[in-house]
Amino acid sequence: MKLLTTNFVQCTVKACASTPNCFPLHFDQQTDELPLELVHEDIEFSPEFIYNILPRIDWPALLTTSRELGNNLLPEQKPNIENPNAPENDQILRDLHTLLLETQIMQGSMRCNSCGHIYFIRDSIPNFLLPGHLVQ
Ligand SMILES: [Zn+2]
Repeated sequence: MKLLTTNFVQCTVKACASTPNCFPLHFDQQTDELPLELVHEDIEFSPEFIYNILPRIDWPALLTTSRELGNNLLPEQKPNIENPNAPENDQILRDLHTLLLETQIMQGSMRCNSCGHIYFIRDSIPNFLLPGHLVQ
């Protein structure tokens, strides 16, 4: 899954859905059986795409996720970009492109801060299916 996806998923346990702690899911606890694996995948850079998605990004959640994945380079505040094609915005948009779209989480686990459920990622696919006792 792309790192971007972490900004749009939350715990699927019903009891968690209304709590603020169900988002974002956390990467701070990994298992030896399924160690965290990130890979870089080259994707064509589109400043407009990043510009258009930026308003929908939950920045504090992205900061948390990035830090848990070992990236401490994001600014504290969401960049305010008015023109995606202006030269002064090129670097930050490229950095966000690399982080959000080109960073693939191949393997690892995400933890819900509300109920503690662990969601595993295998072959770049997160498993959001819940065991039977958690579905109700
Ligand atoms: Zn939960």
